[in-house]
Amino acid sequence: MGIIVQKYGGTSVGTPERMRVVADRIVKAADRGDRVVVVVSAMGDFTDDLIELAAQIDPEPPEREMDMLLATGEQVSIALLAMAIHATGYRAISFTGPQVGIMTDHGHTKAKILEVRADRVRAALEDGQIVIVAGFQGMTPDGQITTLGRGGSDTTAVAIAAGVGADVCEIYTDVDGVYTADPRVVPDARKIDEISYEAMLELAANGAGVLNLRAVEFARNHGVVIHCRSSFTDIPGTIVREAYDSMEQAIISGVTCDSSEAKVTIRDVPDHPGVAAAVFTRMAESNVNVDMIIQNISEAGTTDISFTVPETDLVRARRAADAVVQELGAREWVVDESIAKISLIGAGMKTHPGVAAQMFRALSDAGVNIDLISTSTIRVTCVVSGDDAATAVRALHASFGLSEDEITIESIPGCGEGE
Ligand code: ASP
Ligand code: MG
Repeated sequence: MGIIVQKYGGTSVGTPERMRVVADRIVKAADRGDRVVVVVSAMGDFTDDLIELAAQIDPEPPEREMDMLLATGEQVSIALLAMAIHATGYRAISFTGPQVGIMTDHGHTKAKILEVRADRVRAALEDGQIVIVAGFQGMTPDGQITTLGRGGSDTTAVAIAAGVGADVCEIYTDVDGVYTADPRVVPDARKIDEISYEAMLELAANGAGVLNLRAVEFARNHGVVIHCRSSFTDIPGTIVREAYDSMEQAIISGVTCDSSEAKVTIRDVPDHPGVAAAVFTRMAESNVNVDMIIQNISEAGTTDISFTVPETDLVRARRAADAVVQELGAREWVVDESIAKISLIGAGMKTHPGVAAQMFRALSDAGVNIDLISTSTIRVTCVVSGDDAATAVRALHASFGLSEDEITIESIPGCGEGE
């Protein structure tokens, strides 16, 4: 008899009716003979509503109190879901994150899981219960309640799966798997049947909203197999696991779009050693997460430095930019919030030359201007204007033939295919 962990997101448990549908799915899994642990998110937009509520009291609320507030969302769902399972005649018991020993650091509102003491979950499973655990929350060693950052329930599910040695962690959501691009933007995007942690990490880090990045990291570090699938159908979704020899690894796995960052430019900073260090020290001290950086060619002894930051860090970034302009005698800083980061991701890039060239050509053919570029071994990212985001994603998806079984890499004159 195996153990499976199932995680249901906010949409899947958004109403009492949906809660009952989920309860049926859970008891079906129990009927198949598996022991089942369920991790659940807050209902629908509950977390957003709580954030909104807090903002009406204090625009910058203390993070400890924010966690006390946000943790209530999941506590509502676990109790209701346990009731829904009881109503079907099965035995279920709900637990909060702290109750099942999800131990975290002190990073309120974005805490990291340090340890999972899953004894209580194991004991309840032994006792024949279906175990329902609140996602997104944990406790510090000295007993403070924490939350794991938005979308953190995926991470709870993976951590519990690792803690109880589950065969699989099924993440149920409102889409039926991981796609080559957002199907709302690219109607002929293809579902990926199986993908390596490596490629999934890049997809998740660059705007593929289906799986939480930290959950994928945790899964990779602990070898947890994830099955990402729809709570509305029975069709198989996407399996995320360690790459193995005969795994069909796509040259390009997909195209993502991330509109959650903004671009900050510091204009006319003096061009001498130590300037970049001064800018980014200020940003780091203000707890601003800097991503892509570009320094323009200097003219008349000054230069422009641009970088991207999450929009959620903008208040702090603006304050830090003020200080930088003062300190360095730069002209000014400007923020562009309407940017989009378009990424092309695939393990095969390591061995296929010409991918970046084809990407830039496809964007230029579609009339999309590239602002910043960055790469990793399996990713090329271009920052473009937000207005061009959908055009860019569609152009790349078509250029690389991502709807087809075979990816199209245009041959480059004078270059062999592959290695
Ligand atoms: N309820 C939390 C959120 O909305 C956690 C989650 O859904 O995973 O971010
Ligand atoms: Mg933006």
